[in-house]
Amino acid sequence: MEKINISSFKNGKETLEIEIPPEKLDVQDVVKGKIKGKLIVDRRGNIIEITGNIHYTLKLTCARCLEEFDKDMDKDIHLILKRGSERIFRERELSDEDIDTVYIMNDIFDISPEIHDTILLSVPIKPLCKEDCKGLCPICGKNLNEGPCEHTIKRANSKKT
Ligand SMILES: [Zn+2]
Ligand SMILES: [Zn+2]
Repeated sequence: MEKINISSFKNGKETLEIEIPPEKLDVQDVVKGKIKGKLIVDRRGNIIEITGNIHYTLKLTCARCLEEFDKDMDKDIHLILKRGSERIFRERELSDEDIDTVYIMNDIFDISPEIHDTILLSVPIKPLCKEDCKGLCPICGKNLNEGPCEHTIKRANSKKT
């Protein structure tokens, strides 16, 4: 479940396990398997703090050798929900710093957009299958991680002379 019903939480801390298929968040192009997480919902009256982490596997294509690879991710979630009208809390909002504050008007809070954004922001712009990926030969296109081709040998020789 990714909708949190505030009224079902009493004051104090409760743990919430989540498991979401990537299709539900429209991230199936970059995520393989389910998105799992453990969230701690800490309710203090009309203020609800959610902390925890989510883990998932990104499916990426290496920017150098174009091979597909998986990367396990673990990301923190931290947000504060304030129940009530936005006007009442506007002054306080200015003093809030790093933590995302979300104002809710009713008891149901959907955490999906938060998780969706966290996942998309975690996708690297230039993914590499490994730090020292050798990439492809610009001449024959061979994946040089699998071994050198005649061109790399030639280049190495010409450097010597
Ligand atoms: Zn690579
Ligand atoms: Zn080559």
